[in-house]
Amino acid sequence: MKKIIILIFVTTILCSCNSNSKKAESEISSQNKDAQFNAYKEQFVLLLWKLYPNWASGQGFHNYDSVLIIPNEAQRNLELAFSKNNLDSLKNYPLTTLSNNNKTDYYMIENQLKSIEWSINNLKSYEWNPSDYNVCGVFAEMLNNNYDSLDVRLHNFGLKLKNVQAYYEEAKKQIKNPTIEHTELAISQNLGGASVFTDDVKNALLKSKLPAAEKKQIETSANQSFEAVNNFAKWLKEYKNTSPRSFRLGKELYAQKFVFDIQSGYSAYQIYQKAIEHKKDLHQKMFILANELWEKYIHNPEKLTVGGKGFIKKPTDTLALIKQVIDVLSLHHVSADSFQIAIEQQIPVLVNFIKKKNLIFIDSTKPLVVRKEPAYMAGLAGASISSPGPYDKNGNTYYNVGSFGGWDKQRTESYLREYNHYILQILNIHEAIPGHYTQLIYANQSPSIIKAIFGNGAMVEGWAVYTERMMLENGYPNLTSNESSKEMWLMYYKWNLRTTCNTILDYGVHVNNLSKEDGINLLTKQAFQQQAEAEGKWRRVSLSQVQLCSYFTGYTEIYDFREALKKQQGEKFNLKQFHEQFLSYGSAPVKYIKELMTKN
Ligand code: ZN
Ligand code: ZN
Repeated sequence: MKKIIILIFVTTILCSCNSNSKKAESEISSQNKDAQFNAYKEQFVLLLWKLYPNWASGQGFHNYDSVLIIPNEAQRNLELAFSKNNLDSLKNYPLTTLSNNNKTDYYMIENQLKSIEWSINNLKSYEWNPSDYNVCGVFAEMLNNNYDSLDVRLHNFGLKLKNVQAYYEEAKKQIKNPTIEHTELAISQNLGGASVFTDDVKNALLKSKLPAAEKKQIETSANQSFEAVNNFAKWLKEYKNTSPRSFRLGKELYAQKFVFDIQSGYSAYQIYQKAIEHKKDLHQKMFILANELWEKYIHNPEKLTVGGKGFIKKPTDTLALIKQVIDVLSLHHVSADSFQIAIEQQIPVLVNFIKKKNLIFIDSTKPLVVRKEPAYMAGLAGASISSPGPYDKNGNTYYNVGSFGGWDKQRTESYLREYNHYILQILNIHEAIPGHYTQLIYANQSPSIIKAIFGNGAMVEGWAVYTERMMLENGYPNLTSNESSKEMWLMYYKWNLRTTCNTILDYGVHVNNLSKEDGINLLTKQAFQQQAEAEGKWRRVSLSQVQLCSYFTGYTEIYDFREALKKQQGEKFNLKQFHEQFLSYGSAPVKYIKELMTKN
């Protein structure tokens, strides 16, 4: 019935403009398709949340908080059917009838659906990655996050608990030849999070006003869940893993995962080649700078910083020379007490520089709130941006700054040297302005639930990494010249080497069988990282795949695109305009932004 009414309505509109040109007609049917696609998207997201309740909770959609899905083949079949149905539905919306915003949303939905199919049919991490099975985090979130009253959250917590035992029983049935690394991770993460079912929930129940009987019921189910988690960990420890899968993904799966996760115009192999070339280029540029700065900082008898006294022999090895200069420059850093103040004072300096140099419009009505990191983030890395989720539009965006709470002197000093005078400025460019924070403000101007949920990590990180170089190319922090200092460039190159080597490491490990020894050597010797940082990175690369490439890939795509446009437009190229138009499409994959920017 409803369909008929809509059809009649559409026909009347079309008839009333018979006298107009054909173009007007197609514009109206286009507007119509666009409106229909908007409605489709809303339906799509609601179905998505029904299928993935934990994901929904994480995004701030709490209607399905009480549901815990059992991971098994029946569930995977539901997911496959969902993908197939929606890939069919997408065919009803020809791309030519959609607005730019909806075009990119269309691509991103399509990619997500194909990625679901590929993950189930090809990647099959539900067999080899036991750390896929862990409910502790989603339960902890219900206790710690104040999105609703404690009693409402506890009530849902109690309902959700009922499936925990069945959840872990099914998990055991799915696991086949898991990797040793992901098995160990699953054990430590499950045991580490299990207190949510003992002390944490008991403390919450003390504060709750739920009926005593319900409280008792929740406590009983929680105890059973605690046991289920422990049993699962025990089962994993005793698992007879006669032929464990390697944590290395292998060439074919890696190339496919790269396509879905990054959505780049380049292939994984192309990006790997570009990273290797870029590393060579960085080393050459760093040597030239370090060679000059060596005379200024190390050979200068007035300013003997390394060794303290006497003549220092210039290293013949270029990497050793670069390292000496980096080490000396790293001594220039703020004190732990003034770390946050230094960041706060940087923000207006960055805004002023961007205005004076005409680099991009910064909306001054939405200032960034710099704050000490909240307790639940304590101990994490120095600085990060927290932005409100898609269902919390009025929330603040924060720049969280670490407080060194509980750190000993040595660790603090090492951190301060890492985030020295130079790198701290680059970090602020990346995290805040014109990096992540500025990108976020632009993304909010073309709101899209799809981009809020499936936002392209390579574009988001790539933009932040791109702005680091862009600021230095414009002379940062010098307002009167377009020459940034040699010190700034050298330290920037060191910072950029990290991103570059993340890509080389990731591809090397998963595709080329790079050994741990060679991987650590790459990071410490060729990218000047500390041993501890390199060890941490090795752990990350053995547990994740492709994600470490997103920074370099996005950066390379944006930079290459800008250079190509510059060449093509010559005198007419306007950097400010380029930045503003680029960001106006929201957090979409760079290849689609490129397509839209060059078509119009
Ligand atoms: Zn110091
Ligand atoms: Zn970032």
